Amino acid sequence: PINCEPLKTLIRTVPDFPKPGILFYDITTVLKDKAGFATLIDAFAQYYIGKEIDLVLGIEARGFIFGPALAYRLNAGFVPVRKPKKLPAPTARVTYDLEYGTDALEIHLDAIQPGERVVIVDDLLATGGTMQATVELVRQLGGEIAGLGFAIELDFLKGREKFQQYDVLSLLHYD
Ligand code: 5GP
Repeated sequence: PINCEPLKTLIRTVPDFPKPGILFYDITTVLKDKAGFATLIDAFAQYYIGKEIDLVLGIEARGFIFGPALAYRLNAGFVPVRKPKKLPAPTARVTYDLEYGTDALEIHLDAIQPGERVVIVDDLLATGGTMQATVELVRQLGGEIAGLGFAIELDFLKGREKFQQYDVLSLLHYD
């Protein structure tokens, strides 16, 4: 397997963003690095090649960065999972709780055919709420979840515990 550990030197940590007390892991500094971006996509691709993936789903907004590059490598389609009221055709919507208030995600109803094998990607796994909502959307449409892929996992938040029945890949871990 590809060793992504050296990429940690390319991830910028920004204290107090977007709120005081939050340490934000900024991936833009990996994305702009030629070898760094290639290594991330290669590592995802190596893991999912041969697993008969039909669709890669990317979660708005940073899942839109990795998802299409991975889909291209897998000869799979790409499906955007979006914030409410962005998608033009009929959608399924799932609402989920945040620290303060709620948020929601949508997918086009015809984006997944029953039984299609789906990988969902996002940049970072924190509490897992965002991914859990997306998993629920895929289940509503009858997709088969072949994997959940993250560039970064914040292990101490234990988001992974929400996904025990799934194949969870995180390329980098922070504790
Ligand atoms: P969760 O729903 O797992 O608590 O939060 C994960 C979502 O919030 C992901 O969509 C991710 O893009 C965003 N997120 C939360 N914290 C960070 C962070 O430190 N860095 C980045 N890049 N995204 C974050």
